[in-house]
Amino acid sequence: MSRIYFDDVGSLSVLDGAVVSIIGYGNQGAAQAQNLRDSGISVVVGNARDESYEAAVRDGFDTFDVAGAIAKADIHLLLLPDEVMPAVFASEVKPYLVDGQALVVASGYNVSYGFIRVPRTIDLLMIAPRMIGTGVRRGYVDGRGFPSLVSVEQDATGKAEERMLALAKAVGTLRGGAVASSCDEETLCDLFNEHFGYVYALRRAYELLVEAGASPEAALLEFWASGEEMELARVHMTHGLFHQLELHSKVSQYGQEVTSRLSLDDEERERRRLRQIIGRIKDGSFAKEWALEQQAGLPVWRRVRQENASHPMIKEEERLLSSLGVLERPVGAPFEV
Ligand code: NDP
Repeated sequence: MSRIYFDDVGSLSVLDGAVVSIIGYGNQGAAQAQNLRDSGISVVVGNARDESYEAAVRDGFDTFDVAGAIAKADIHLLLLPDEVMPAVFASEVKPYLVDGQALVVASGYNVSYGFIRVPRTIDLLMIAPRMIGTGVRRGYVDGRGFPSLVSVEQDATGKAEERMLALAKAVGTLRGGAVASSCDEETLCDLFNEHFGYVYALRRAYELLVEAGASPEAALLEFWASGEEMELARVHMTHGLFHQLELHSKVSQYGQEVTSRLSLDDEERERRRLRQIIGRIKDGSFAKEWALEQQAGLPVWRRVRQENASHPMIKEEERLLSSLGVLERPVGAPFEV
């Protein structure tokens, strides 16, 4: 069993006198900066001079370019998009680090694949929320916190664990439970979730229902447009994946538990397919593919995005979500890479 840290560990006094820089004032950065400030921590923000920079200023933070914020602080939370982090780290972070400081990532990706290499004299920590930024802030404000995976990847000072726990406490995750992990484990779980195939499974279900004679509206409502999925996700969490079945009718329980079970052959085939996905995450093939795709100007992604944008479901879905009054983007918003 992995250790789970709760609010009874960690002491904010470890951060006395320290200044924390939030590098990247986006989804995570804005939420974590506000949580840390409300916990009494001195925070500065570093961002490119654009809209997010202005947002940080409006929110009352001392805001600088990235190198400027690094120079003002002792502990640095790297909350940049993972794909821009290596270049920014090399040119605007690493040259300004001082021995004995700490660097914190919210995702294991760049550490795991060696895209950023942190000097041996710096503590390297991970606090990876299992929660989007709005939830990180809401969890802090309502007092319930939010879960995360945490680790000490490099202990240069002998104080890395107490620093990690103090930061985890201040950002609010110890109230939700912080699971001892590693950058490698976080990367494996995170990427596997993304590569597992939920969106295509859902669209396949839509296509097959429509092919079988269902209206697009009925098919969409059945699978995701009603919001029932949100309630299902909630009971998965509160009851457990299989126990939540007891909240459904008997016919539903039988169908979900017995009818939908794959045959032994299909199960074996599916596991082989998923093990290949895991293999590509673990041996770095996916990370290499993604790096090459970016260098080439995203040709494959652009083609697939174009195919998906022209799928007839997109229009049907937009019509329905819009007429139900739940669409939270402009009608006809472009869907491009
Ligand atoms: P966002 O894209 O929301 O925010 C990134 C921020 O970095 C933005 O403020 C952006 O400014 C700024 N930025 C982008 N490029 C540069 C640059 N070259 N120099 C300086 N600033 C720049 O990222 P997230 O918050 O989603 O992700 C941050 C980290 O958190 C990642 O490691 C991610 O994996 C991790 N994470 C994210 C979660 C999520 O829910 N989003 C959940 C858990 C972990 P601008 O927008 O103006 O370009």
